[in-house]
Amino acid sequence: MKRQLPLVVSLAALLLFVAVQMFMIHSIWRQKEEIILMRYKSLSREGLSMILSKKKSNGFEKAMDVTDKFASWLISEELSKLYNAYDSTELGRLALKETYSIMYKNEKLTSILKSYIGEAGYDNNFNCTLAIARLELLTPIGNLIAADTVYSKAKKNLVVVNSFKEEHNHFLIEFHYLIDLTHKNGMVFKEALISFILIIFSILIVFFVFGITWRNLMEERRLSGLKSDFINNMTHELKTPLSTITVAGRTLEKEQILSDRNKVLETAQLIGKQSIHLNQLINTILEVSFLERSEFELDRHKVAVDELMHQIVTSFLTSCDGCAVIEEDYRTKDISVSADIVYFTTMINNLLANAVKYCDKDPLINVVTAADSSNLEITVTDNGVGISREHLDHIFEKFYRVPHGNIHKTKGLGLGLYYVRRIAIAHGGDVSVSSKPSKGTTFKIKIPI
Ligand code: ADP
Repeated sequence: MKRQLPLVVSLAALLLFVAVQMFMIHSIWRQKEEIILMRYKSLSREGLSMILSKKKSNGFEKAMDVTDKFASWLISEELSKLYNAYDSTELGRLALKETYSIMYKNEKLTSILKSYIGEAGYDNNFNCTLAIARLELLTPIGNLIAADTVYSKAKKNLVVVNSFKEEHNHFLIEFHYLIDLTHKNGMVFKEALISFILIIFSILIVFFVFGITWRNLMEERRLSGLKSDFINNMTHELKTPLSTITVAGRTLEKEQILSDRNKVLETAQLIGKQSIHLNQLINTILEVSFLERSEFELDRHKVAVDELMHQIVTSFLTSCDGCAVIEEDYRTKDISVSADIVYFTTMINNLLANAVKYCDKDPLINVVTAADSSNLEITVTDNGVGISREHLDHIFEKFYRVPHGNIHKTKGLGLGLYYVRRIAIAHGGDVSVSSKPSKGTTFKIKIPI
């Protein structure tokens, strides 16, 4: 839990940062929304007072005249007839509906405001809205009153420009003139775009930095895991031959062993074998650290590929007492390559040793060489346990060992393939791998000729 703490804290800080940025986006949106509503309110009020002072009109003259005619007709001709058919509330509602329709058709204010606001350089793509708060028809038998009760000034996108109160021959009216900024969101978005881009950009940068830090942390953890595995493996690998040598040394001190020449010879051979193994281990570690030094250089000589490969395979089989069947197929007659024979040999030996080590049946190895005009290709195929996809990308890394399956049975330091790749690269080439779990693995070394 302690190791996870910095990660959890930074994740929480990241979430907090995103939440703050979201809150800022929300606040900016609200602020811009208010500014836009205020702007349209003051612009349209300015426009209206300009119309009133310059044109001596409020834009509703025609609408009022037509409404007056309608009111007159309603009162004089039809009212008594209509009274019989409707009750007064229903009649008021009809009068209101007709008045709305007349006013929408005949009002001039919207077009004048639109051009005023457009000239001021702002978006004039809005609609007008009218709200009749009170309508009274002045009939001989008393006033018929109608009011729009549904209308609410508090609607979000509506800007109240002005309230009018007019008295004409046949009617009285109180109404509000509003403009409807339904498309306000588009305007807000346009105005806040730069702020939003900056905020989103800053969120992306923080995520990017966090991602990189996270990746590095994970990589560091993985490497430290690999290192501690390596130290455990190395301790184990070194201890085994050492303790065999110690025990063998003590055995030699015993009188009954000393008197038996064969047993002395056997023990001495055992000590010799274990010393060689110990020496090989130490050499592997030293060689890898030497490979990483900048002054590392190959001692290259021209060598015939077929001959060298056959020599390597033969001495490998001798050293491991014929531990595998190796089929050789050399298609590189008369082809030479410039190589450091010592390193080249160790590179091929490592592949052969792995092919034997990671095999759960009788090892059958196929070694093929081929060349085109520019490259030499050496392929080593085995019938071993194979490597699953997820590990294939890592097996050439230093200290990397496939963590499950074969590891507990086989010894190793996770340096063999790292060494192979380093040597292949030092020769100007590279190594690749393909594998099918439980079927076998193929390593392909490519070196320029
Ligand atoms: P080591 O053998 O010391 O573990 P290597 O670098 O040689 O280290 O190999 C790394 C890992 O790759 C090994 O742990 C093994 O799991 C896997 N590996 C290497 N060669 C083979 C092979 N021929 N078949 C299956 N697995 C292999």
